[in-house]
Amino acid sequence: MKYIYGSIFALTILILSCAQNSAGRRTLNLVSDDEMNAQGEQAYVDILSKSQVSTNYNLNAEITAIGQNIASATGESFKWEFSVINDATVNAFCLPGGKVAVYTGIIPVAANNAGLAAVLGHEVGHAILRHSSERMSQQLLLQTGLSLISINFEESPYKGVIAAAMGIGTTYGIELPFSRLDESEADKVGLEYMARAGYDPREAVKLWERMGALSDSRPPEILSTHPDPANRAKALSAQMDKAMALYEASVKKPTVNLN
Ligand SMILES: [Zn+2]
Repeated sequence: MKYIYGSIFALTILILSCAQNSAGRRTLNLVSDDEMNAQGEQAYVDILSKSQVSTNYNLNAEITAIGQNIASATGESFKWEFSVINDATVNAFCLPGGKVAVYTGIIPVAANNAGLAAVLGHEVGHAILRHSSERMSQQLLLQTGLSLISINFEESPYKGVIAAAMGIGTTYGIELPFSRLDESEADKVGLEYMARAGYDPREAVKLWERMGALSDSRPPEILSTHPDPANRAKALSAQMDKAMALYEASVKKPTVNLN
């Protein structure tokens, strides 16, 4: 009997917690935005405290400007923050609540402002689509019996799991790639954000082609959680008509090389 009540309880939670994300898919979210954003903020502070944060004024200004343009295009009222980390790692991330970091190692691959807008559009897309909350919900059900809720990131024995759910697990020694579905959703909305923000969306295809070329010799860190650069370049090309229409209607920003 206890088991049946337990099952009904779990089922009720699942039904009540299924919501539609902005890509139109029904998803499981057991963790509130407030809780996720608090975890995102704690993880952000933790990572920045262990990293060499760039004090290069011009570089910070340039990357923050691109990030703010993408953030505006999402229409989401996060408490956005942008940081540049001096590190040769080819990576960038956006944590729940809009906490963004760009590693200097990704700048030569991004090559220009539109390439970086493509990277940020995609990473921000994961946050807007609540992919971390979805993954954390799955972890909650699978591993911990809901005990991850309302815990302190810094002191949690599940720190690695929480970080992995947010897509930054490699920093804490747990690799957990986003699902293919998450990746294609983030690519899709990311392409729209960059186009609406006035960056040439065709640069997104070139970006992933450059990532693919790089992975033949030394696989970039970002590909440990973001596989199949060739496939995503192809899928992005297929969505180009809609993106170009948004770009044509936007206040266009000339494509300029990053310093
Ligand atoms: Zn991704």
